[in-house]
Amino acid sequence: MSVKKYDIIVIGSGGGAKITSPAAKLGLKIAVFEEAALGGTCLNRGCIPSKMLIHPADVAVTINEAAKFDIVGAQNTVGAQDSVPLRYSVNFENLINRISNTVDSDSQKIEASYRKSPQIDFYHTRAKFVLNKIIEANGAQMTADKIFIATGARPQIPDIDGLHGTPFMTSTEALRNTKLPRKMIVIGGGYIAVELGHAYGALGTEVHFLIRSRMVKKEDWQVVDEFERVFSKLYHVHLGTIPTKVRYANNQFTVTFKNNQGNESTLTCDALLVAAGVVPNTDDLGLENTDIQLNPGGFIKVDDHLQTTVPDVFSLGDCVGNFLFRHSVNFEGEYLFNRLFIERNNHPIVYPPVPHAIFTHPQIAGVGKTEDELKKAGIEYVVGLNHYKDSAMGMALRSDHGFVKILIERKTKKLLGAHIIGAEASNMIHMLIAFINMNATLDDLLRTIYIHPALPEIVRNAARKAKITLEAVA
Ligand SMILES: Cc1cc2nc3c(=O)[nH]c(=O)nc-3n(C[C@H](O)[C@H](O)[C@H](O)COP(=O)(O)OP(=O)(O)OC[C@H]3O[C@@H](n4cnc5c(N)ncnc54)[C@H](O)[C@@H]3O)c2cc1C
Repeated sequence: MSVKKYDIIVIGSGGGAKITSPAAKLGLKIAVFEEAALGGTCLNRGCIPSKMLIHPADVAVTINEAAKFDIVGAQNTVGAQDSVPLRYSVNFENLINRISNTVDSDSQKIEASYRKSPQIDFYHTRAKFVLNKIIEANGAQMTADKIFIATGARPQIPDIDGLHGTPFMTSTEALRNTKLPRKMIVIGGGYIAVELGHAYGALGTEVHFLIRSRMVKKEDWQVVDEFERVFSKLYHVHLGTIPTKVRYANNQFTVTFKNNQGNESTLTCDALLVAAGVVPNTDDLGLENTDIQLNPGGFIKVDDHLQTTVPDVFSLGDCVGNFLFRHSVNFEGEYLFNRLFIERNNHPIVYPPVPHAIFTHPQIAGVGKTEDELKKAGIEYVVGLNHYKDSAMGMALRSDHGFVKILIERKTKKLLGAHIIGAEASNMIHMLIAFINMNATLDDLLRTIYIHPALPEIVRNAARKAKITLEAVA
């Protein structure tokens, strides 16, 4: 069989597009393989549709909380925990269709641009390696000077008795489902579970979370505590529970679960969302025909140049698993493109502190180290923590939860970590991302003028608290 030769092959059209599009502009000849809709997880079934769903949910929260601002005619509850009927109704079908139409149309625009480009051959199919640098698809073989694997990850389905074969949802289906369930069980307590659980809950579904250990457990410990405290008031949170059996009959799921003491309980619901982590899309890629090695968990092994164990085959994004965010795969794609095709140097990838946000209620965001990480590393630090309510804008918001926490290295006064839970956390964190990237110290945070009475004053107040602690023990 003859082998068609390209300059570049890109497998996957999510973060992989960070190579494809600029390489096409450079005039390189590219083969793109994508088995699903163009745009990857973020556009089609991840970041974008989920945030388009969560925003209306947050609007519902605002309406539900309006009474605390003396705006009458609204309920003072969120979600359906107390079975209080909401005074407005959500046209869930319209909402989901609007979201789907928007992301589908964006995906189709990418497809049109790929098909129009003389530089890009788009193969709408699954790619498989048959040799180190040879890929087979649709009965043809292709090779390239450089190959980029950006195949992403998919929802992990836990092995629970009876689950397979039932019409449960993963995040993919939950973002396309047009019928708002009356009652939903969510298996999982990570960021996808709490984001989608909150979206459904705030729009009117009674939501129950079954969580093996803690919610959002990768966050700083105080954020975890605060999140569980606030979230449990809004939704039904069953901590320390392991689902053991799922049954589906008469359009109802019955989920049996055990608690830490081994006691069994059951819950019945009309929708079941499984959000128990992700697995990399590396098991059906023909890697067994190559020298490309995997790490435990099936993630592709790369060096600090994102090169796999085969020269000139690179990998990025969720299938590598250094970080599982769209902004991190973008960073990796831009690094690879610049290094290999523009700067043509041998510099390793150096990640700045990678921030993250959880778009739930309350919002969470963080950058840099957590307290536990600093303890483990034996680094001496002080904490500056200020609650939202202890700030002018926090008072205006009538905040009853949330804080900004900063971690400062005792010796150098350098900002090492920042963690926010509360209103606008995903926006607020950006000033701390900038500070941490610029190696700022506590003095830098304190000599900044903050707009009064904007939310970032909470950051300043946290910095003032850190200063007091630092001076007290000096
Ligand atoms: C519900 C949800 C919400 C999220 N929210 C956020 C958020 O708010 N912020 C954030 O940063 N991240 C978020 N993420 C994570 C983010 O979407 C991913 O980290 C990111 O999209 C990963 O990009 P990627 O390029 O590595 O993989 P993907 O975007 O998944 O792209 C991989 C592509 O490869 C294709 N593919 C796989 N195998 C093959 C093959 N053999 N042949 C051809 N094609 C193949 C797949 O179809 C897929 O389109 C969210 C994820 C989910 C599920």
